[in-house]
Amino acid sequence: MTDFSLELNEDQTTIQKWVHDFAEDVVRPAAEEWDEREEFPWPVVQEAAAIGLYGFEFMATALGDPTGLSLPVALEELFWGDAGIGLSIMGSGLAAAGISGNGTPEQVMEWVPQCYGTADDVKLGAFCVSEPDAGSDVSSLRTRAVYDEANDEWVLNGTKAWITNGGIADVHVVVAAVDPELRGRGQASFIVPPGTKGLSQGQKYKKHGIRASHTAEVVLDDVRVPGHCLLGGKEKLDAKLARAREAGHSGAKQPAMATFEATRPAVGAQALGIARAAYEYALDYAKEREAFGRPIIMNQGIAFKLADMKMEIDAARLLVHRAAWMAATRKEFVAGEGSMSKLKAGEVAVWVTEQAIQILGGYGYTREYPVERWHRDAKIYTIFEGTSEIQRLVIARNISGLRIE
Ligand SMILES: Cc1cc2nc3c(=O)[nH]c(=O)nc-3n(C[C@H](O)[C@H](O)[C@H](O)COP(=O)(O)OP(=O)(O)OC[C@H]3O[C@@H](n4cnc5c(N)ncnc54)[C@H](O)[C@@H]3O)c2cc1C
Repeated sequence: MTDFSLELNEDQTTIQKWVHDFAEDVVRPAAEEWDEREEFPWPVVQEAAAIGLYGFEFMATALGDPTGLSLPVALEELFWGDAGIGLSIMGSGLAAAGISGNGTPEQVMEWVPQCYGTADDVKLGAFCVSEPDAGSDVSSLRTRAVYDEANDEWVLNGTKAWITNGGIADVHVVVAAVDPELRGRGQASFIVPPGTKGLSQGQKYKKHGIRASHTAEVVLDDVRVPGHCLLGGKEKLDAKLARAREAGHSGAKQPAMATFEATRPAVGAQALGIARAAYEYALDYAKEREAFGRPIIMNQGIAFKLADMKMEIDAARLLVHRAAWMAATRKEFVAGEGSMSKLKAGEVAVWVTEQAIQILGGYGYTREYPVERWHRDAKIYTIFEGTSEIQRLVIARNISGLRIE
């Protein structure tokens, strides 16, 4: 039994300070440059690897905290530094989570370290689920995986859209339909090892925010991977498909949903970091900036905005920490608590960063000040890893017990 506590323990405050120092000294000073360049910030990721912040050991330590709070605490600090760079450091974690969630212990040991490489030779991972015509509706994936029994190989064909680190990653984890008729329950995940023929990068997207993070299409053209690259193994997949065929369309719960609920608080924590950066900046600015002969914070119109910004951030953090604690202690999510945390934090980040622009006035609207960048960065948090509408759907279905559409 691990009690929930609002007080961070010594290990957690140590991680918090360590990540904060890196965010303040290395990440934030580099943020504007990489946003403008719209390129993957290799030197910053290499620095993160050199101190052990980028790497599977860090993720293993953070995830090993029985209270579940180390990871959200660390992510809030890193993303306080910059979200585009933060995602470049954390993007490989999506692939690692896909492998850990579906792979055998041997597959996890073999492939997760390869998603990160070493401090001297940094590698990347990418998690490829979304497609041009299947984003929220992940059950309609068109990418096909066909088994070639004679060669014990899987053949993958299709196009993936919006993939973080897509095409520049060393390890791509690809979710594909093995039996499209079974929709979500007919899918499986595959490792595409480094250098595999037939995998290429399609268009790289030009984005509104998180511009340092690389997002691109991944094209799979007769990609052949060995049988052992099927995560979880063939026996397990065959048994899963047989169960799904037996259940027919009775609508058995998709097991992936439980995993999503558990990872959502980490995404919420990233949004919190952006919101806090904007709030702190706006608070300082409001005390300095004078209009009508007094600091603008002396007007309730500004001071109350800041009070609400602080309150909303604290409320979002409580939801994030609650859901992270529930996931780590394996409490059952009965009301979509994971979704609540991501939904609230994402919407708070968008709202708080907009208020920050308002408080900075004309200056806030220019690229001379960071708040417009934070606002652009925040917006992705109502879209990826499940849109705000999808999070509301999860909560609504949980509280009602009904299949709300
Ligand atoms: C920068 C970025 C990085 C990304 N990284 C990755 C990645 O690494 N790997 C990956 O696999 N994917 C990634 N994605 C994809 C992301 O998860 C999808 O964009 C997201 O799930 C939404 O899908 P969509 O864009 O197809 O929107 P759609 O599903 O087409 O949705 C469009 C609108 O309709 C709404 N909507 C859809 N269905 C419903 C419904 N039933 N009820 C109410 N409203 C509904 C949505 O909420 C949204 O507002 C990334 C996306 C971006 C932009």
